[in-house]
Amino acid sequence: MAELEGLEFGKSDFVLLDEVTMEQFMENLKLRFEKGRIYTFIGEVVVSVNPYKQLDIYGKEVIEDYRGRELYENPPHLYAVADAAYKAMKRRAKDTCIVISGESGAGKTEASKFIMQYIAAITNPSQRAEVESVKNVLLKSNCVLEAFGNAKTNRNDNSSRFGKYMDINFNFNGDPTGGHINNYLLEKSRVVQQQEGERNFHSYYQLLRGGSDDLLKSLYLQRDPAEYAYTSQGATVTLASNNDSLCHKAVLAALKVIGFTADEISSIYKILGTILHLGNLQFTSDGEHATLDGEDTVKHISKLTSTEAENARKALLYRTVATGGGEVIEKGHNEQQASFGKDAFAKALYERLFGWIVGRINAVIEVKDYNPALHGKNTVIGVLDIYGFEIFYNNRSLFIELILRQEQDEYQREGITWQHIEYFNNQIIVDLVEQSHKGIISILDEACLTVGKVTDTVCLDSMNKKLGQHPHYTSRKLLPPDKTMEFNRDFRIRHYAGDVTYSVEGFLDKNKDPLFQDFKRLMYNSSDPVLKEMWPDGKMSITEVTKRPLTAATLFKNSIIALVDKLACKEPYYVRCIKPNEVKSPLLFDDARCQHQVAYLGLLENVRVRRAGFAYRQPYARFLQRYKMTCEYTWPNHLMSTDQEAVEAIVNQHGFEDDVAYGLTKLFVRTPRTLFTLEQERAA
Ligand code: ATP
Ligand code: MG
Repeated sequence: MAELEGLEFGKSDFVLLDEVTMEQFMENLKLRFEKGRIYTFIGEVVVSVNPYKQLDIYGKEVIEDYRGRELYENPPHLYAVADAAYKAMKRRAKDTCIVISGESGAGKTEASKFIMQYIAAITNPSQRAEVESVKNVLLKSNCVLEAFGNAKTNRNDNSSRFGKYMDINFNFNGDPTGGHINNYLLEKSRVVQQQEGERNFHSYYQLLRGGSDDLLKSLYLQRDPAEYAYTSQGATVTLASNNDSLCHKAVLAALKVIGFTADEISSIYKILGTILHLGNLQFTSDGEHATLDGEDTVKHISKLTSTEAENARKALLYRTVATGGGEVIEKGHNEQQASFGKDAFAKALYERLFGWIVGRINAVIEVKDYNPALHGKNTVIGVLDIYGFEIFYNNRSLFIELILRQEQDEYQREGITWQHIEYFNNQIIVDLVEQSHKGIISILDEACLTVGKVTDTVCLDSMNKKLGQHPHYTSRKLLPPDKTMEFNRDFRIRHYAGDVTYSVEGFLDKNKDPLFQDFKRLMYNSSDPVLKEMWPDGKMSITEVTKRPLTAATLFKNSIIALVDKLACKEPYYVRCIKPNEVKSPLLFDDARCQHQVAYLGLLENVRVRRAGFAYRQPYARFLQRYKMTCEYTWPNHLMSTDQEAVEAIVNQHGFEDDVAYGLTKLFVRTPRTLFTLEQERAA
């Protein structure tokens, strides 16, 4: 068993702080980071600080230390949380979930991978082939999703540009039988545009740098990303941490293991190639209408998409519209429309490709033929890795609420009295964003539905008018002296942890997200079955396309609501990730930045909730088994009539009476100090 940590590493649980103040919290966090102790508990929650260096604290041996142990028996670790979630699922047939949060670069995705590896390592001891294959696909899916969904940003060389929620299903043995991945809000604008210093999604660079000569030739591609408009606006560098060429091979191997056919893999690369060629298309204008430069590029696009070159050309230059009288005519684009249409097409191609890949993985890992009568209850562990989950909808309050509810439920079950505590309520800001008719999303949607020239500025005016009185909303127009905001562009929301300024620039376009039906039809008529499958809505004729699609903000809101519902019915476990500095350094602990995150994540409230109640609880039999050696009345066997009485004997012998409460089946311990003392006694 791993050694418990000494005091020189600070307090391994924030519940042990002498006082719950920001100062003490930060002092402990910093000390531990500097000593290479990146994990610290708040009860069952793990707080993690990104070490920005490889630590020798993972792998098979360490996994063995944590397997089946109680939380406080080992130093804080992701493995401890993974094990707690797994145990609850297995012992009590509870669905559980592990919610990983923190800002970009804080270490969420790395944490989710360690957790998956832990679960994979401790399950299927008998090595049954079908279970191994499910585990293999689950693990390999990460590699594929990262290739297509991650990119180098200025904040993180491997930033997830989509949100991920993965369910892992288990049979009654506690072995994985399948899973399901939900993806949220892929940042598709990156397909056509990258900021200075950032890259497009990894997949492009991997293909260009790692694809065989034959493959590139078949896609009419050059090897150098600098050749393509879509891969050369920001950085084109190969990442030190992430060799594109090697990754290409790993992704290809992973695709094969997962079960993508050769034809499907070929279609994936053709779509990437198509997008790169689209990016290099140039339009000129004959005064009124756009014309195409580079017929060769159009030919390549039509070859790669298995469409007629003439149809591809037409879709790029014209759109079909239904007139008021039900007549269908073709209208030529001007240069700007053509260029806008092309970008929208490229973004949609990539987004659908990504969605299709996720769907394809899901089809492989979906639980099939599960018969509860035969196999027992099918239980689930969910793992959530989504950036901005809290920033978008400020679900911090959800986090505290769920923790409180969980605590209260258990106290009630066990017959222990408990006092309600006040906690921060974020409803007012959630309403500001989400409320129907009055919230920001509604105002945005309304502006999108308005016919005529509604600009971003008009939309901002409308927000100012409707929200001007809201205590958490302001904008430059309403606050003229504040020069840190742009007059016609910015508004500000007062979140709990501080003000955040948002810009309305591009708001409407992003929300409307229009794509001409001509492109959809072109793709639907492709003779490439994979491509056709991605575009079922291309079947509709222009006269059928009348219903307005839901806007991006509303779709996202709906998917987040569905996600919150999914989480709310599971027993949650939390990993709260903190990014120590902005420069990816293993040595620097930026106090101000860290403190901001601690405030934002609500960690102090979390400590308070935990301290107000009983930090630890354990079934009597288990407690007894572990600590009976520390008490003369229970070692080697006790003569009392119940385990509870024996546990009372241990507690009394050590003088911990004031620190515990006796539930129906469990002992509740207020501070971890008690348990740590017992652990030390055991080890002595
Ligand atoms: P984003 O929201 O941008 O996706 P993230 O929270 O998922 O960010 P990660 O990609 O997990 O952040 O971590 C960023 C980088 O930090 C990793 O690529 C890795 O270099 C480093 N890192 C994170 N966690 C660890 C760890 N436990 N050990 C070593 N390095 C780590
Ligand atoms: Mg990530």
